[in-house]
Amino acid sequence: MNPALIAQLRRLGSAPHVLLDPDELVAYGYDATMGYRGVPAAVVMAETEAHIVDALTAASEHGVPCLARGGATSLSASAVPPDGALVIDTNRMRRITAFDAERRRATVEPGVVTRDFRDYAAARGLFYAPDPSSEAAATIGGNVATNAGGPYAFKYGVTRDAVIGLRVVTPRHGLLSLTRGTDDAVIDLIIGSEGTLGIVTEVSLQLRPLPSHRSVRAASFPDGESALRVVAEIMERGITPAKLEFLDDITVESLERSRPWGFPRDAGGLLLVELDGDEAEVRDESITLDALLRSAGGGMDSVDPVRAERWWEARRGITASLARIRPAKIGEDICVPYSQLAPTFAAIKQAADDADVVVAIFGHAADGTLHPNMLYDPSDREERDRAFSLLPIVADAGLAAGGILSGEHGLGRVKQPFIDRAYDPPTLAAMLRIKRAFDPDNIMNPGAMWPTEPMEARE
Ligand SMILES: Cc1cc2nc3c(=O)[nH]c(=O)nc-3n(C[C@H](O)[C@H](O)[C@H](O)COP(=O)(O)OP(=O)(O)OC[C@H]3O[C@@H](n4cnc5c(N)ncnc54)[C@H](O)[C@@H]3O)c2cc1C
Repeated sequence: MNPALIAQLRRLGSAPHVLLDPDELVAYGYDATMGYRGVPAAVVMAETEAHIVDALTAASEHGVPCLARGGATSLSASAVPPDGALVIDTNRMRRITAFDAERRRATVEPGVVTRDFRDYAAARGLFYAPDPSSEAAATIGGNVATNAGGPYAFKYGVTRDAVIGLRVVTPRHGLLSLTRGTDDAVIDLIIGSEGTLGIVTEVSLQLRPLPSHRSVRAASFPDGESALRVVAEIMERGITPAKLEFLDDITVESLERSRPWGFPRDAGGLLLVELDGDEAEVRDESITLDALLRSAGGGMDSVDPVRAERWWEARRGITASLARIRPAKIGEDICVPYSQLAPTFAAIKQAADDADVVVAIFGHAADGTLHPNMLYDPSDREERDRAFSLLPIVADAGLAAGGILSGEHGLGRVKQPFIDRAYDPPTLAAMLRIKRAFDPDNIMNPGAMWPTEPMEARE
């Protein structure tokens, strides 16, 4: 890396830790996506907003690519640095700087771990809804950058719906302080921009009252398509589940191999459903839902809160459990209208059979998100190539069903190559004008999300 930039980084504010040793930098070349790696030139362990501002300003002055890193749980390789990049790590910024229980609002630093914040709010009687299954490691800053969702997203919204204010530093405009009500357009551009427009230094969040009652059940079906058809029926009936998760047979098998969770191993498709609200609401919806599940032929099991928590723990552990089937995987993350869940599932399974690849499919079915995970053994080059060859096929299956490229993980580097399939040239050109308005020299996380051609070529 440029020696002048290194000297500048070392002089920053109250001297944040700067990592330059290649052995220490190795760990910063990866995120949770398998098969992607970069080699950063330096890491700044930011402790304050001023450290982020100064590091980004220095990178900008020297034209060095730069990206923020939170929990590094990205599954779209959006936190894999371009070679030679400056990584700005926010993990030392974990303070909850304001909490107003009466107005149900909080302000946090970007490195606050999502589950820590949820637990903190719950201990004060409040509910922070966005619940990515990675919440034990993911950060609020990363959640904002990816607009993270989770099982609660259908009923309670995604991260965007909870954000009421942001502080963000951008190469072109410096530090911006943005508030809902006056700066919504800019806030909504920053959310989900995968760190390509700027770095979030502070987040203000709206909380909710904790629901007083909840009730959890599972229903198993002979195959994945039948289970997903029932999801469409639940939606059409106007039931609003707090969570409605789908797991296919391979996913269930991987979980049971990892630990005896007690899921039915013979299930071709499994639905896990949580209802919440006040007592009457939960009781009434339970009656309607159980009748529907029984008439659809699902074997049913209603569970007590302790067992339910075990099930949700299992659900959060799916990604790791898939290694029980094959050591590695590449995950897709499409989102389709609920009426298209079953046919899209069938099309992907057929493509996987044709390519001789094992694909596990699960997802937050209520909002139409499906995660087809192509499993492979990295020591088997041909199997790896066959698994990766399914990425564009899955993306096309989602788009053909009227869906979108990403339900929640973002495009990152995994699905950036498919962006032209989803948007027409004028739309892409308009997007690039937005990118340039914040980051004229394209130093913010280059290679993620946006088309890679020179921006001029899109004019
Ligand atoms: C097991 C597992 C389960 C998952 N389940 C879900 C799920 O249910 N729902 C879901 O939405 N996602 C899920 N994910 C994906 C991932 O956890 C989310 O995208 C999460 O929001 C990333 O947060 P992070 O702190 O780890 O960010 P990182 O992985 O560190 O970074 C992700 C992106 O955000 C940018 N970024 C990070 N911090 C900042 C900041 N302060 N300012 C600007 N940009 C920043 C990075 O540059 C990068 O582009 C899952 C991942 C795993 C491994």
